[in-house]
Amino acid sequence: MSGPNTQVVLRLEGVGRMHGSGAAEVSALHEVDLTVHAGEFLAVMGPSGSGKSTLLALAGGLDRPTAGRVLVEGVPLDGLSRRRLADVRRRSVGYVFQDYNLIPALTAAENIALPRELDGASTRTARQEALAALAELGIGELADRFPDGMSGGQQQRVAIARALIGERRLVLADEPTGALDSATGEAVLGVLRARCDTGAAAVMVTHDPAHAAWADRVVFLRDGRITDQSVQQRIEVAR
Ligand code: ADP
Ligand code: MG
Repeated sequence: MSGPNTQVVLRLEGVGRMHGSGAAEVSALHEVDLTVHAGEFLAVMGPSGSGKSTLLALAGGLDRPTAGRVLVEGVPLDGLSRRRLADVRRRSVGYVFQDYNLIPALTAAENIALPRELDGASTRTARQEALAALAELGIGELADRFPDGMSGGQQQRVAIARALIGERRLVLADEPTGALDSATGEAVLGVLRARCDTGAAAVMVTHDPAHAAWADRVVFLRDGRITDQSVQQRIEVAR
């Protein structure tokens, strides 16, 4: 395949992340090389403490590596000012936090619309997009509800809708199905899959092999290193 689907959306080059110093030094991630193309859905698996969340935070520019570099759509994040980094995060990256991170004072629709409004979309357009995203995730009726009035699973779906709004090319999701029953979890995975099929790249942390099966490729982390990769049958598109 040639054209947009061969585009590299995310690249990690020799990425490492150390925490602390001296005897208390922890290597959360070590010399990780990873390339994710447009159209690709990548799952990251590994035991607790293996560096999955660290990898995702570095990929989304929420944390900075202590070695190597991260490029999003070809832009090295290390060279960016805080302001430009915030722009890249808002325009290119949708991030689903493990603990949702919704703003309690805003309704579901307002939470979802906020990144679009910050990006210059009109309130009306942003609201329409938010309603469409809520409908896609099967929770259209929650538009005007506040996070406090929603179950964990509902908040999780709002967080996913917020990550998908706009034309973000990179969707990063840390255990996005943790609070969902299996049918709802599968539906959410279907939405992520569809987003990749229309040209986004997604990286999802999961501990559930059935959920990883939705991905094109699975990367296994142990002690901050990629130990193995498995390519699933569906990706045999010639790149
Ligand atoms: P996972 O998401 O796979 O459970 P993490 O990426 O959260 O793993 O953490 C990887 C390792 O880095 C763990 O040993 C964790 O204790 C350590 N770590 C993560 N964040 C910090 C931090 N802010 N300070 C010190 N150690 C950290
Ligand atoms: Mg984690």
